[in-house]
Amino acid sequence: MLIPMKDLLDDAKKRRYGIAAPNVFNLESVEAAFQAARELNAPIILDCAPAHGIEEVSAIAHFFASKYRDVSAALNLDHGDTFEAAIRAIRSGFTSVMVDRSTLPYKDNVDQVTEITKIAHAVGVSVEAELGHVGVGLNYNETRDKGLTNPDQAADFVKKTNIDCLAVAVGTSHGNYKGEPYLEFDLIETIERNVNIPLVLHGGSGTGDINLQRAIALGIQKINLFTDLNKEGMEQLKSYVAKEVPDNIDGDNDDEFSEGVMKLNIREASQESMKGYKTALKYYMKLFGSANKV
Ligand SMILES: [Zn+2]
Repeated sequence: MLIPMKDLLDDAKKRRYGIAAPNVFNLESVEAAFQAARELNAPIILDCAPAHGIEEVSAIAHFFASKYRDVSAALNLDHGDTFEAAIRAIRSGFTSVMVDRSTLPYKDNVDQVTEITKIAHAVGVSVEAELGHVGVGLNYNETRDKGLTNPDQAADFVKKTNIDCLAVAVGTSHGNYKGEPYLEFDLIETIERNVNIPLVLHGGSGTGDINLQRAIALGIQKINLFTDLNKEGMEQLKSYVAKEVPDNIDGDNDDEFSEGVMKLNIREASQESMKGYKTALKYYMKLFGSANKV
């Protein structure tokens, strides 16, 4: 059974570890995430973006939750950007929704998050919201400082919205970084003191092991990951393709052609890439101290 994200994060806050939240988007990625969690006996949060299929991913996640019953997993809508997306996620069995209104004026962010939180909580679904704005790594230098979370506003935001965890902008960015990432550790500490709920770090990939561990020690409980899992998956896929496809296929020779087609197997290619995804995910789970925490 999938469980509310709040339950996982509250335990992580109490025992001071971080939970990996990989983006999942199809059957293979959901199963890889479940297997990684199971092999390490670590809790996991599956993050699904609206564009990746709310109803589809929910059905897949529920299937694997009953296949791997000993895994503690939550299913969270990642960057839910509309009221409709949140309601669809709740209806289709997500155990958490992120309501991302971080680019709106403060009052609109508060109002829209409060409205969905009331609905989500009525059916036991957790809510994540973002204050400040985590930008894109390619614009790191231009966007980093502008988006940082205001710690006083954070206290007010959490009080007014009644959310279960807060995504903070403390120097990370989505995707690949242009330049060297550096985090505002004092800001993490201050926000942690000001709000009494778990904190979420978006853009965990490429942030650096030492930075991530320190952020967790200071009060981060959920770390979102995709770029590094994607990278490792693509590396694995590239070496599979390089190994399995002969260079000399030209289609002239029937045997050669059928042998090549058999070796260029899309099912195996997908499994290979997921091996890389899973390896990178397990690496981070261990780094975050979440192994054997179920
Ligand atoms: Zn994000």
